[in-house]
Amino acid sequence: MEITKLMEQFDYEQLVFCQDKTAGLKAIIAIHDTTLGPALGGTRMWPYACEEDALVDVLRLSRGMTYKNAAAGLNLGGGKAVIIADPNTGKSEALFRAFGRFVESLNGRYITAEDVGICVEDMDIVRQETKHVNGVGAIAGSSGDPSPVTAFGVLRGMQACAKAMWGSEQLTNKKIAIQGLGHVGYYLSKFLHDEGAKLVVTDINEANIARVVQETQAAVVGHTDIFGVDCDIFAPSALGAIINDDTIPQLKCKIVAGAANNQLKEDRHGDILREKGILYAPDYIINSGGVINAADELNGDYKRDRVFKALEIVYRNIEEIIAISERDNISTNKAADILAERRIGILGKVRSSFLPRN
Ligand code: NAD
Repeated sequence: MEITKLMEQFDYEQLVFCQDKTAGLKAIIAIHDTTLGPALGGTRMWPYACEEDALVDVLRLSRGMTYKNAAAGLNLGGGKAVIIADPNTGKSEALFRAFGRFVESLNGRYITAEDVGICVEDMDIVRQETKHVNGVGAIAGSSGDPSPVTAFGVLRGMQACAKAMWGSEQLTNKKIAIQGLGHVGYYLSKFLHDEGAKLVVTDINEANIARVVQETQAAVVGHTDIFGVDCDIFAPSALGAIINDDTIPQLKCKIVAGAANNQLKEDRHGDILREKGILYAPDYIINSGGVINAADELNGDYKRDRVFKALEIVYRNIEEIIAISERDNISTNKAADILAERRIGILGKVRSSFLPRN
């Protein structure tokens, strides 16, 4: 594989291959773009079938973080790391400390956090070797569980979609189908219930369903039936790639707006939604509450009420993306990319002027 060619395709800045035999560490850190600031993005631990799969994943994910952070109005670039190992069997103190030393060696160009396969306790170990870690458990000033913040951002994004679709952001009596009642889906169901929405929910975890039904009186459907629910809004809040050739023909909603990452299996599925008259709230815009929460911690003196106020950018971004999509006759996912690229382009130019330093 010609790695620098691969990097050139989407203009990646830096790839760091990390190896420590004693610790059993094999990891890759990808820094996509630091025009706006240090690259923030989580570390994923996954037993990739081969190194090429790990490389492709870390490149794709780090670029996604550039767009997410830029659109969220943050002074952060995009990065991501992958540790190539099974999270069920491959964890050790040595592994995470060795990884932490590689993060530290980047001197703040990359800030790491939790992602799939990594828990708070793992990151607490990484932190023993580097301060460039975000969202660590029992540390004063930590931003803590981002899920309620992410869920509230999704609510505001849904309200912006409702305003565009029906002329009012009111969700009272709107029928909303939620797929996934985990960390984010649970809080989302509570917020929507408070707004007077009628909920139809699904999950593969019975305990998660029971909790939401008890607290919101939601109706329940099987996990394969959720796509075909006759509803106003479908909120994917579990898995990625669930908007695809199989599920789109089943959809009866007017809006797709949920927390899950990478909802579209391919970009073209955003075009198909648009052709069907379904308004899609781009995932990395509507679920940006998590990074907005993390960024507040980086500024020091973390305050959750300030974070909730900052979530208004989700509402404004959805409004602007819909406007770009209508103006240019393109899907909302393409419009979201335009919004993010525009901010990077403009601020990159503004910040290129010479500043004398003492
Ligand atoms: P989670 O693991 O707590 O919850 C996911 C839920 O989906 C679980 O209850 C699981 O049982 C359920 N699920 C899995 N497969 C399913 C299926 N086939 N059908 C129905 N339900 C299924 O995760 P989370 O933190 O709530 O995140 C949910 C999504 O939102 C993920 O895609 C995540 O990447 C994204 N996201 C989360 C945050 C955050 O703050 N936690 C921020 C941004 C994006």
